[in-house]
Amino acid sequence: MSQLEARAEQMVQQTIELCDINSGSYNLAGIQQVQAHFKALFAPLADDYREIELGPLERVTDNADVSQLPLAPMQVFQSRPQAPLQLLFTGHSDTVFPKDCDFQQCWTDGNLLRGPGTADMKGGLVLVSEVLNWLNHSELKDEVGFTVAISPDEEIGSPCSGPVLAQLAKHTLDNSQFAIGMTYEPALEDGTLAGARKGSGNFSITAKGKSTHAGRAFFEGRNAVAAIARVTHELAQLSDEAAGLSVNIGQILGGGAVNIVPDTCVCRFNVRVKEPEQQQYLLDQAERILQQASADTGVELQLHGHFNRPPKPMTERQLALFNLLKQCGTQLGLDIQWRATGGCCEGNNLAAAGLINIDTLGVRGANIHTDQEFACLDSFTERTALSIVLIQTLHQHLKEGQLPC
Ligand SMILES: [Zn+2]
Repeated sequence: MSQLEARAEQMVQQTIELCDINSGSYNLAGIQQVQAHFKALFAPLADDYREIELGPLERVTDNADVSQLPLAPMQVFQSRPQAPLQLLFTGHSDTVFPKDCDFQQCWTDGNLLRGPGTADMKGGLVLVSEVLNWLNHSELKDEVGFTVAISPDEEIGSPCSGPVLAQLAKHTLDNSQFAIGMTYEPALEDGTLAGARKGSGNFSITAKGKSTHAGRAFFEGRNAVAAIARVTHELAQLSDEAAGLSVNIGQILGGGAVNIVPDTCVCRFNVRVKEPEQQQYLLDQAERILQQASADTGVELQLHGHFNRPPKPMTERQLALFNLLKQCGTQLGLDIQWRATGGCCEGNNLAAAGLINIDTLGVRGANIHTDQEFACLDSFTERTALSIVLIQTLHQHLKEGQLPC
């Protein structure tokens, strides 16, 4: 621990350097710059480095067209794939902050490191590098192999990296049989981890009607905005608090002058589900609503998008892993707690592909996705130590016969 304390300052400095570079999910140049930093940080710690091409990313434009955006690759660092204990570390280089927003730089404020991505999750990835640095100098080195996968598109739902994460988790990308996944999203400020997670999908609807003059030929027009208003109202009504299902209409774009029947409209929405079966239910309902509205209004309505994060339930094996981590925490004087959340992350993708994981092993922090985001400075060494004890404990169990989870 004292050796870690000595490195704390360097960890924080590295985090600041990374966070001072904007890497909003759609800022390709910024992400590439951050990736260069990650390469410099991780390549010396790993035997092998490769980039997996992703994309292009399909995006429905504000004009209801579909465009293709280039995406940065996924970075994969690997060492000792033949070692008996294999660990999959995952994280992301993108943030939710676009390059033209006001929140771009880090500053310290008592025990807080404030800035974009300090907690979510550049701080967490710096912590991973510290864990690997320890591992490479530890007596366990030859017994523990690792893969680190860093995605560029997590904050937009991992549309392109999701399938690669699933392949990694299922061991179909290479032959590493991972014992667990370790993802470095932040823990809450008080150290609480995310337990069960809901599933999520991002969708758009494009509406294409017919534009006419609202006075001279109103009834010959096909009003795209009115059609979207109707379907969004019906979709929103599918939300069911008791069932843990929600449909959030996030954006509607369309129309202009009030004396013109608008021919184009786009709506974007997010769906959260508690149970896997609710995904198909929602898709069936959306299909029914769109077909009926299209038949009634003559406006062409099309659904885009998909569920990219299946729910992550607290299964028996997941619970066993959490309990194991709780024991590790006790050794460090930490009381590890976890709580179900409606949020989701790469841990959902890994779990759906059959790899149990803990996905909030990063720094403690709060207010992520807002300009009040911060990471707690004293959590850098604390959470590095927690990961180290977890690896030591997994290794000990494996040596004694089998993993408890
Ligand atoms: Zn994140």
